[in-house]
Amino acid sequence: MTRIFTPQKAASPSIVVRSSALALLALAATSATLLADTSKRHAESHEHGAATLEIAVDGNKLLAEFTSPAMNIVGFEHIAEDESDISSVKTAIENLKEGEKLILLEQGGCTLTNVTIEAEGLLQDAHEAHEEDEHDGHSEFEAAYKFTCTTPDALKTVAVGFFKAWPGIEEIETVFLSEKHQISAELMPNAPQFEVE
Ligand SMILES: [Zn+2]
Repeated sequence: MTRIFTPQKAASPSIVVRSSALALLALAATSATLLADTSKRHAESHEHGAATLEIAVDGNKLLAEFTSPAMNIVGFEHIAEDESDISSVKTAIENLKEGEKLILLEQGGCTLTNVTIEAEGLLQDAHEAHEEDEHDGHSEFEAAYKFTCTTPDALKTVAVGFFKAWPGIEEIETVFLSEKHQISAELMPNAPQFEVE
């Protein structure tokens, strides 16, 4: 017999190696580009009623980035011009800053240290003027919450308060990345949390 052909034995080790390498690559790529790519990806997946939450744990730092179409939050997506619209946007920004009420991290010893809110295409100011050219008629809120955690490995549950604050949010596509976890979850008003396991 000259034909020695054992595809399964030959194939399986390489598949194992390949998939774990891919997983590592995916994790590295996702972590590295999590911030850089979010606005781009969100613009592509802008869907009224839906929002996204991306959480990345790196050492004792936890970053949670929430993005929602403005429609879900203030009920419109144009640049606020009259007083009532401007006031709605400003109130939304103030409420979005209350990260302790919006992202509840159980047992990680996490403390909110910094919040950044962007209201893209909603408030007229010099900073955003250059974006108007490519504005597609949709607007979003982006909120970035930075936490410092004393026991990040003990983090057990992540719950969100976004649904209660804004009933216009119907679902939140969530991704949680850490050295040990890659979790994706679809949060709903009746299931606003997931376990880190
Ligand atoms: Zn929209």
